[in-house]
Amino acid sequence: MIEAKADALNSAIRQLDIVAEILNLESAIYEILRYPKRSIKVSVPVKMDNCDTKVFMGFRVQHNDGRGLYKGGIRYHPGVNLQEVTALAMWMTWKCAIVGIPYGGAKGGICCDPHKLSLNELERLTRRYTSMILHDIGPYKDVPAPDVGTDSQIMAWIMDTYSQIKGYMVPEVVTGKPIHLEGSEGREEATSRGVVYCILEAAKKLDLKLRGVDVVIQGFGKVGWNAAKLLHMQGLKIVAVSDSRGGIFNGKGLNPVKVFEHKMKIGSVVGFDGARELTNQELLELDCDILVPAAIENQLTETNAENIRAKMVAEGANGPTTPEASEILNEKGVFFIPDILANAGGVTVSYFEWVQNLHREHWSIEEVNGKLKYRMTKAFREISETAKKHEIDMRTAALVFAIGKVAEAEKLRGLWP
Ligand code: NAD
Repeated sequence: MIEAKADALNSAIRQLDIVAEILNLESAIYEILRYPKRSIKVSVPVKMDNCDTKVFMGFRVQHNDGRGLYKGGIRYHPGVNLQEVTALAMWMTWKCAIVGIPYGGAKGGICCDPHKLSLNELERLTRRYTSMILHDIGPYKDVPAPDVGTDSQIMAWIMDTYSQIKGYMVPEVVTGKPIHLEGSEGREEATSRGVVYCILEAAKKLDLKLRGVDVVIQGFGKVGWNAAKLLHMQGLKIVAVSDSRGGIFNGKGLNPVKVFEHKMKIGSVVGFDGARELTNQELLELDCDILVPAAIENQLTETNAENIRAKMVAEGANGPTTPEASEILNEKGVFFIPDILANAGGVTVSYFEWVQNLHREHWSIEEVNGKLKYRMTKAFREISETAKKHEIDMRTAALVFAIGKVAEAEKLRGLWP
């Protein structure tokens, strides 16, 4: 497994620096975008099941609200720290600009291993954390969502805690809720569906036949598993998948639904019948047509970039490729669908959920997926156009497109007082 996630913030700032030069950004605007508007750090005491009290570090970083209220997921993972959350918040700002939804960027997280907490401990941790950031979130202020290690149940607890304290139900304070609690149809799959729409567009652009091509997916959580399922349904061959415990490979193709059932039983993809085991490092270096990193940051680095043999990388995860690796892989001719475009389907349907909640409406799955497809396809084409116009790669184009929009909003709003 690759251990390098400490520099997500460095990567994010380097990307901003490169784009600031291309766009010739005013230094005042650059400075505003370089730092988050607000960083909240809380120590969250939790009564454990054995009656001991344990304190967990929690964060909420609000990067920019130039284009709209703060929006971003909450991560529960042992590697969570302020730098990582800040980088993720910055990427959220760019991502919302790419799909043209009226949000800025934020991110939250708690440094913990959710797999080692009981359901009751997880609930007490979530409710206490929510109460400690209660005045900083809100339906018109900052709307959290799920990310690594969190799910719709955790979103339900956040919604309930907020609503209990307000004295009335406020579903629009958080997205990614269960369907029975004003969640949106299609939210669970939305990020992966967005990845798939981008791959379909990329195939058209590159004149690539997708049926039967080999796909490798790192991470078999919400994004990885749904991407595997949807790509398999489109006729692509999923030859390898992995999670934090390791990976599995079968050159003839894996059935993602069967792998998922296996994971539900034993907690990992490892040990799946009829597949060879391999490490996450080996998995990333497999010879394949499409690689979908769907785990965590900094997985493609300058250490392994030369060994990557995928022809296309569709970034389901946030920040899986360092700027150094990006450069090496661009030179090798690998086609990237960068994270802030590829995985923007999640926040797009989160936006749909928020709109539905504000109007007390419930849209059909067809309506949600149709609107998602429209926005993702449009965003892909706009980024392709930007790449062509400036003669730059897709990642730089995505950043130029997004940062340009945020900078313009900041400029138009001006500085008060
Ligand atoms: P998740 O917790 O549901 O799944 C994460 C998966 O990655 C798990 O299978 C886990 O075992 C695996 N993993 C963790 N560390 C690993 C490592 N070092 N090596 C290999 N595998 C590892 O999380 P998710 O929601 O699927 O998020 C995955 C990525 O997608 C994250 O980068 C997240 O920020 C990004 N993302 C998620 C959403 C969303 O809607 N959930 C939206 C946009 C982006």
